[in-house]
Parts: sequence; C-alpha cells; structure tokens
Amino acid sequence: MQITTEEIFEEFEQLDPRDQSQYLLELGYDLPRFPPEAKRDCDLVHGCQSQVWLTGSMAESGDDPVLTFQADSDAEIVRGLITILLASYSGLRASEILAFPITDVFDRLRLKQYISPQRHNGLQGMVDRIRTIAAESLAPSVAATVKTKVQDRATADHHSKPASTSIRPFDVDEVRRQFPVLNQILANGRPPVYLDSGASAQKPQVVIDKEREVEEQYFANAYRGRYSFGARIDDELEAARQKIADFIGASASEEVAFVPGATAALNMIAFGWSSGRLQPGDEILITPMEHHANFVPWQQVAHIHGAILKFIPLTEDGRLDLTSLDQLLTRRTKIVAVTGMSNVLGTVTPIRQLSDAAHAVGAVLVVDGAQSVPHMPTDVVADGIDFLAFSGHKVYGPTGIGVLYGRQSLLSEMQPMMFGGHMISRVYSDHSEWAPPPARFEAGTLPIVQAIALGTAIDWVQQYGLAAIHAHEQRLLELAATELQSIPNMTIYGPSTEHKGAIVSFRMSDIHPEDLAALFDLNNVFTRHGHHCTMPLHDLLGVSATTRASFAAYNTEAEVRILVDSIREARERLLRHSS
Ligand code: PMP
Repeated sequence: MQITTEEIFEEFEQLDPRDQSQYLLELGYDLPRFPPEAKRDCDLVHGCQSQVWLTGSMAESGDDPVLTFQADSDAEIVRGLITILLASYSGLRASEILAFPITDVFDRLRLKQYISPQRHNGLQGMVDRIRTIAAESLAPSVAATVKTKVQDRATADHHSKPASTSIRPFDVDEVRRQFPVLNQILANGRPPVYLDSGASAQKPQVVIDKEREVEEQYFANAYRGRYSFGARIDDELEAARQKIADFIGASASEEVAFVPGATAALNMIAFGWSSGRLQPGDEILITPMEHHANFVPWQQVAHIHGAILKFIPLTEDGRLDLTSLDQLLTRRTKIVAVTGMSNVLGTVTPIRQLSDAAHAVGAVLVVDGAQSVPHMPTDVVADGIDFLAFSGHKVYGPTGIGVLYGRQSLLSEMQPMMFGGHMISRVYSDHSEWAPPPARFEAGTLPIVQAIALGTAIDWVQQYGLAAIHAHEQRLLELAATELQSIPNMTIYGPSTEHKGAIVSFRMSDIHPEDLAALFDLNNVFTRHGHHCTMPLHDLLGVSATTRASFAAYNTEAEVRILVDSIREARERLLRHSS
C-alpha cells in the first residue's frame, strides 16, 4: 500500500530535525526499485544531481485522465523525495495535478531545511516532468480551461500576500546612531556629513554584525556541503533571497538571482536576453539619463546585433517626455530599458505607464533600480517590470552583491552569460544543459557573506518601511532645493521635488565643481562631483561636471544646512581669490 501525504506529515511532525532527514532516507528504502531494463535514458529527469527515472501512465483514460507515476533513483534520499511526490500526485486527474499546490507540501515538510538547493532544483525537475506528463495527457479542449484557472490562481496568490508594514517609528536620531561610520569625530573635530549615498550607502551595525557572525560562527561554501555549517549557510542564503523577493514584490524567490551588482545584472540581461532574439533592425528604447551601466551594454548589444538604439527625449526640466512614446515604440521595439530614478537628476520614471506601453508592442521592460529600489517601494508585479537590477551597497548592504530579478517565465528562457559550476544541470563532453533559474545565473561561488548580509540590510529597511524613509528623504530634498536656490549663479538640474527622489545635482556658473569638492572636504562634507557615469546626459546639460548631494535615511536637516553653509563659505574663499 502506497503511503499517503497525511501519514508522511504526521510522522514528520513527531520527529526532531535530525530524525526528519533520517526518515526521508527510510522513505527511500521502502520505495519499490526499477528493474535494470526499466531504467531507460529517455525517462531520465534533467536537473537532478543523481539519476532519476520517471514515467507516468493512465489509471483511467478520458479527456482528463487519472494518472499514476513510477520513479526510481540511484540515491536513497532522492527516492525519499520521490515517495513524497508519488504520494502527492498519484491517483489525481491531470487537471488536478496541474492545479496541485505542491510547494505547500514542501513547505509543510520544511524540505528546504533537509535538502540542498541543488537537490531542490532536481526536485523541481521531477515536478516539471510530472506536470508535463499531465499537460500532455489532457484533451485540447480541457487544456485551455485548465490553463486559465491555474493562471488565475497564481495571480490571486500574489495579491493575497500580506503587504509589509512599518513596525518601528522613524526617528532620524535613533536611525543615525546605528551607523558607526557616521558617529566618529574626524580630524577637524567634527563628524562626517555623508551626502554620497547615491554612490554607496553606509551600513547599520546589524549588517556589519551579520557579516561578522557568518565569518566567525558558521562560514562554509554554499550549496555544496550537508554538514551543519553548509546547511546553515544554505538556509541563510535562501532566507535572504526570500526577503529580497518580498521586498520587491516578486512572486517567488526563484525570480531573484544573486549577482555582483547592478552593472553585472544589466549586462547579463542585455546580452542574455538579446542572444538569439534580437534581429538587425530591431529597436531598443532607452533614455538619455541612463547611468552608463544601463547605456553602454545596450549600445554594445545594438552594435553586435545590428539593432537600433532609440531614446525617449527629456523635457526641459529633466523628466521623460512621453508625448511621442506611441511613435517611438514600434513592432520592432524588443526592449525598453529605463532607470527607475536618475542618479543625477533624481527624476523618478513612470514605470507602470512605460511597462503598459512596452507590453502593448510585445517588448520587455528592464528597470535599472540601482537608485529607485533604496528610496521608494518597488512592486515588480504591480509595476509590470519584467527585469530589475539593483546593488546591495546602495541599500545599506555590502558591496559585491546585487540582484537580478526576472519574471520566472523570462528567466527560464534567458541565456546565461557566465558558465561554470552550480549553473548547470548536466554537462556532457560536447554540450551542457542549464540548471533552472536562479542557479543558472549564479555560476561559481557566490559572495556568500555579502548576500546573507544583504538580507539583513533589507530587514533593516523593512522595519521602518520605505514609505517612512522616503518621506524623510523628501523633506531633506525640499529643504536642500529651497536653500540652494538662494545661492547666486546656481543651477539645480532636474525636475521639482515632487518628481524626484533623494538626489540634488547642481552647479554654479562661477565655481567649478572640482574646486567646490576640495573645499567641502575641509568641512567633512562628502559629496560627489563629475559626470556621475552619465556622459550623454551631461552632454545634453551642456556641462562636463556637476556636484551631487544624495541623501539617505540617516541624513539630517542640520547636514543639509552644513552643505549650504559650506557652499557659501567656498564661494567667499574662491571668489575672493579670483577677483
Ligand atoms: N545604475 C545607476 C542608476 C547607478 O546609480 C549605478 C551606480 N552608480 C549603477 C547603475 C551601477 O551600480 P553598481 O556600480 O553597483 O554596479
């Protein structure tokens, strides 16, 4: 008699975690074995670390037949997993199999704690095979209605996710106290006035502590060992992945790949998505205010494929001019790639409007979220974002880690750009097959400590909520805009504050940004000057460099005033010498 899922649940609940993984092995010992002649290559499931043979047959025929499955593996633990799958699916109709929430079973058994993520990919490979057999056995008329129902369910599941809420009141003094780097006294007897968070944000103590905790207590490589350190690392990594998925409203953690940063993610999307898809004459639509990270890759891809790079124009005040969007988007537009928020003008782009327009012509929308994700809530589903890139170091996390988000169906079609360990499901001497996402995009050893600490940084943000952080930053922005306008010969670039995020870039006609930066440094005012990796935008603005002050949760109104006073002081000193 085949064991039922209820019996498995009951047994699992009575056992402690170590015995639970033993029980998984025992389930494997009890599964009937295939005779050697039944282990056919054509029934092998791809994506498994061990060999798995899986077949299905009809227990009762019809338009929506009842199916049974048989499977075997050369690893006992996998045979245990097979037992769970067979208990879950056997005896169901094909349509019921397609609608069956198998992840609920995995979650209830907390399988992610006992099996490595690579094995989890293998498990997903078996589920995919079972679902394919079910889909293929349905009569076409039934198949169409089943597909719609499954899609409806997925949408309903997404919308029933609880919205994250702020649980800790936002108090800038309390926030600031958590950043050791900001609470030191520098050589001139004053603390730093750090106004360069657009380049990199500082880290709160909890993030620094988390990095230290991993290094000191349980560091090991990821996705390799099942000894306790390795298991802990895998769990922490997957927990971080889930936090990131929730933070950006992704439907599943598998839509989040760990990559070195926004630049890496954007290159992977540009080259990976274009590969085999872009034809000569196809069009890529970007904006003139893109950071080079979301500009140069598309320029390169356009050169390689003979595609045309087009630009959405800017209005006088530095917003996107969407009046001609309908003409700019054509049947040939395959990709629309825009920044969520300009790293110079601060302009916030109307993502939903762009995604609707892009999707209407069959293009995908890529969003460079390097600046927007740290400052305003992002919901990839509600915003209709197909691909999103951002960096950990701008969202209070470590350097060397970033995120490539892609809609599941798109990621599983996208060509990887880095090859090696972990990203494969099977390597033959003459070709290889890729692991499902996200592993496909995570070749080699990940920046493990950084990825885990990024999860902590996201928790840190979530405890206040981005809405509260955004409101605070907007107050600073408004104060800065008002005060800067009172300085002679001052140009502030970009739109009015209601259309922009926590960045203000400016230039005075009589003072070079480089000179200003040198004098700022004397007051510990840390801003950035130059073209900020946006040369085409600076060409449009008609200047080679601007000064940029960018704000984060820990900045104060007092610091904005120090910035303005330092400008006045610098003017006095510099103009005294030049007159
Ligand atoms: N896009 C924008 C808008 C940015 O501001 C930056 C960082 N300055 C990047 C992309 C690149 O991020 P990273 O250097 O972390 O890859």
